[in-house]
Amino acid sequence: MSTSEQIRPEITVLSEEHKHRARRQLLRRRPACGGCGGGDFQVGDALYLGFLFLHEDTDAYMVALTCTNPACPAAHTGITLRGSEFLTS
Ligand SMILES: [Zn+2]
Repeated sequence: MSTSEQIRPEITVLSEEHKHRARRQLLRRRPACGGCGGGDFQVGDALYLGFLFLHEDTDAYMVALTCTNPACPAAHTGITLRGSEFLTS
């Protein structure tokens, strides 16, 4: 039995520092949950979008968000952020 989670290679695993920066971007943009309208999210990992989709900026990432409302009917969502907004140190 493995103790480490299986992470897909295309996923960018975010450190606590990266997640802290992403949360600061959430405070600025104030996204609303599409499922319940709530505004509190847990930040997950990121998927690099820039080279896949021509309409995205070359440093665009989709950052996974999970709505913290336990009654939310669609808790999993995401927000597009630039890498420079949350990955740089
Ligand atoms: Zn929700």
